[in-house]
This record gives sequence, C-alpha cells and structure tokens, in this order.
Amino acid sequence: MATETRIPQSTRGGRTGAYSPQDAIAAMIDRGYRMTAPRRAIIAAALRQERPFTAEQLVADAATNAGESGRSTVYRTLEILASLGVLSRILDASGRPVYVAGAPIHRHHLVCAGCGTAIPFNACPVGDLAATLARENDFEVHGHLLEIFGACGACRAAAR
Ligand SMILES: [Zn+2]
Ligand SMILES: [Zn+2]
Repeated sequence: MATETRIPQSTRGGRTGAYSPQDAIAAMIDRGYRMTAPRRAIIAAALRQERPFTAEQLVADAATNAGESGRSTVYRTLEILASLGVLSRILDASGRPVYVAGAPIHRHHLVCAGCGTAIPFNACPVGDLAATLARENDFEVHGHLLEIFGACGACRAAAR
C-alpha cells in the first residue's frame, strides 16, 4: 500500500502526476536527505526514463556517472525515491523488480511483455481481500503488488 499521498504541484515531467526532478529533490531535502551532485544526476536520469527500469540500467546510464563506484549510491537513491512515492517498484513480465516514474498515489499497472510499457491504473481490488486475509490469519499487512501482464495494442499491431 502506498504510504505517500502527496500530489506534486508541478507536472513538468510531462506525465500527469509525475514528479519533476525539482519536486523530487525538494521531497528528499524535506525528509532531511543530503542533496549531492551524484544524487541529482541519478534523480534526473530516473525521471527521464519513459519505461520501467532496473537499478542496473541506471548504473549503466552514462548520465548518472555512476559506474562501479556509484552503484550503491544508485541503489540507495532509488530506494529513497520509492519510499517517498516519487518512483514505485513494480515487477516486469519476467518477475524482475523494476522502477517506474510518477506514482504519487496507490497504483497498479498493465505491463506489456513485448515493449515493457506500463500503463497505470488507480483502482485497487486487493485492499479488501488483504484486510480479510489479515484478520483471518492474524497477519499484519505491509503492502501488496499487483501487475497485469499482456500485450499492448502497438505490439499486437506490429505482430500482425
Ligand atoms: Zn507493447
Ligand atoms: Zn492495490
């Protein structure tokens, strides 16, 4: 379950509801995180991604200037951004954990196995079920993931 419901003022990132790098930097500073040049570069690179991405892809992205030495900074920064709701963690079609930009509210995604496009949707059919299961099993729920895998219209058209 998303813990962060702050809706960013700005949508300079282009996608509605997505954080701009400025919003993300402000959110981190708000929470007392130190803002360094490597972190700024990682934030900018993360928010530029149009598709879900892995931490390793950002390490490899020359713009982050991360390389081997910066790997832990990339991982740590992405974790912070996810905890702030700037990014959300989802699973791709092969079950690999990936990040997707712009998720200030609780969201699930339709994930295309062909091109990797993730289409967010806000309805959550899992919340009631999770509460019932928690009650019946004396279990404290900390969250859940739900991704729906398939093929987008463009990929199906290309395959025809
Ligand atoms: Zn597709
Ligand atoms: Zn949900």
